[in-house]
Amino acid sequence: MRINKYLAQVGIGSRRACDKIIEDGRVKINGKTATLGDDVDEQNDNITVDGKTAEFKSKFSYYIMNKPKGYICSVSDEKGRKTVMDLLPNNNERVYPVGRLDYDTEGILILTNDGDLAYRLTHPSNEISKTYSVKVEGLITDPQINKLRTGVELDGVMTKKAVVKITETNKEFTKLNITIKEGKNRQVRRMFEAVGKNVVFLKRIKIGDLGLRGIDRGSVRSLTTDEVFYLKNL
Ligand code: URA
Repeated sequence: MRINKYLAQVGIGSRRACDKIIEDGRVKINGKTATLGDDVDEQNDNITVDGKTAEFKSKFSYYIMNKPKGYICSVSDEKGRKTVMDLLPNNNERVYPVGRLDYDTEGILILTNDGDLAYRLTHPSNEISKTYSVKVEGLITDPQINKLRTGVELDGVMTKKAVVKITETNKEFTKLNITIKEGKNRQVRRMFEAVGKNVVFLKRIKIGDLGLRGIDRGSVRSLTTDEVFYLKNL
């Protein structure tokens, strides 16, 4: 990320004000005076302004998890099943999952205690894109794909337009990516059921353009400043 953008994001000032601070030689990246146009690696670089570390201090916590199947998206479970909270670092931070993935669904899950962000990401009027990788048995026909794209009826209401792409297909199974901008209960599974296909594997691979690169199944890490900023502006 550009140094001026980084400084603006961590609250040093507007980008223009940060440009001036950089030009005045007050900013160092790993001990070396920064110049306009320098890039920083916000995870690994030590960035200082007037000798003080410039870092994002949020009162909130933000995590990204690659949820495995077999965990429920809840803070506790009366049936004693494992919850996604069991996969978090043991640091007593109170965060909660943003939206839900079913017990049998894998993939990207955000956990935070920032209620505004949670609301933004889940409120249907914001139409946040979520992309799922889906596996169904056998072949899928063009009319079935077209129905998924244009809308199927769930609970008496048509689903909104979806982007559907076949990624692999043969007699045994078909894999597809589907992007939807809604989040009805078990929506993807029910959309496929509505066209006569049973989902045998489901993984959320993206929220907007945020994916799971480098995060193994069952792992979790804090979101970077840039990622939080991205989600807040989706
Ligand atoms: N759609 C589903 O069917 N299940 C999920 O967990 C998420 C979307």
